[in-house]
Amino acid sequence: MIQSINLKIPERVKIIDLAGHYKLIQDEIDEAIKGVLESGNYVLGNNVASFEQELAHYLGCKHVVSCANGTDALYLALRALDIGHGDEVITVSHSFFATTGSILLSGATPVFVDIRESDFNIDPLKIEEQITKKTKAIIPVHLYGNPCDMTEIMKLAKKHNLYVIEDTAQAIGAKHKGKIAGTFGDLGTFSFFPTKNLGAFGDGGAVCTNDDKLAENLRKIRVHGSPGRYVHEVLGINSRLDEIQAAILKVELRYLDKWNTKRQAAAKYYSEQLSKIPELILPVCLDGNEHVFHQYTIRHSKRDRIQEELKKLNIESIIYYPIPIHKQKALEKINFKKGSLHVTEKICNEVLSVPIYPSISQDIQDHVAKNIKSILNP
Ligand SMILES: *Cc1c(COP(=O)(O)O)cnc(C)c1O
Repeated sequence: MIQSINLKIPERVKIIDLAGHYKLIQDEIDEAIKGVLESGNYVLGNNVASFEQELAHYLGCKHVVSCANGTDALYLALRALDIGHGDEVITVSHSFFATTGSILLSGATPVFVDIRESDFNIDPLKIEEQITKKTKAIIPVHLYGNPCDMTEIMKLAKKHNLYVIEDTAQAIGAKHKGKIAGTFGDLGTFSFFPTKNLGAFGDGGAVCTNDDKLAENLRKIRVHGSPGRYVHEVLGINSRLDEIQAAILKVELRYLDKWNTKRQAAAKYYSEQLSKIPELILPVCLDGNEHVFHQYTIRHSKRDRIQEELKKLNIESIIYYPIPIHKQKALEKINFKKGSLHVTEKICNEVLSVPIYPSISQDIQDHVAKNIKSILNP
């Protein structure tokens, strides 16, 4: 295969360019960090409080409670709803491990429902058959930045009196029928891991809710079950957000819609360049959804070969996720229930995410697309 000698293409095409992202807003970020360093206040201070308010305003919900990461956000959400031993929580196996890990850490039992082939998200038609007397909640995951069918999920939750926690780690800013992902259910959880659409320069997370009592529970459980100093009403954890991360996130939040729009444009461009390749399935945005393309994930039966060839060309690609959660060793000895996970088990062998980030250039995208084409039609 011919190596590209185009100077606009870096030697290595990275899946995401975090250092390049920093350069775009370096002055603002540096100033934010310096302000915190000089303030002498480093954990749960003014920046955390104002970031929580600004994110609540962005999402259009009453409360945001920040925490140390997106995994804790899920755990705090479950604990705030008093979900634990003896309870069942419905979710998907095609996700990052944290979704199920947090259910297990709460003491509850995960129950897996299959995903849809169209959008890789939980299949609302397969939820009801998994509901039992022990079911307390559903955790839909808005995977790759694409919202789940929240209309159907909320209908089912109301009918069966179940809580809904939306794992919005990959989809901040995405919308379903004009409403922002994370705000349909009782609680929405977010991750600010550096690679997420709203990324800190370290770990961070948050939970949003419109319920005063749940917000109070979250705030308490975040700091050792403590409503005030050295009083402990329930067993909690230590999951606080740093001031430095909050100050950075306040800067990033101002750009979030702009970054998401650029991701959407990049996704559209990939889809144009990669159209009409036999057997290559491109990501879809279902009617009524606004996808924020945390990932641009293609699907092909010869996925492994595509990835190998891209690697030889110094083009990074990642498989999200190669082993479904229900098949992980960590769950080997654990009690969990699965329905038929036919689609989950099939597509983990076929999905491949290619480089996408807000500032990706058309030259890089052309290079990626051209090479995928020539791998498939040598
Ligand atoms: C990233 C992610 C999480 C966990 O977030 P962390 O901040 O890494 O703990 C949870 N769920 C999904 C779907 C994620 O992508």
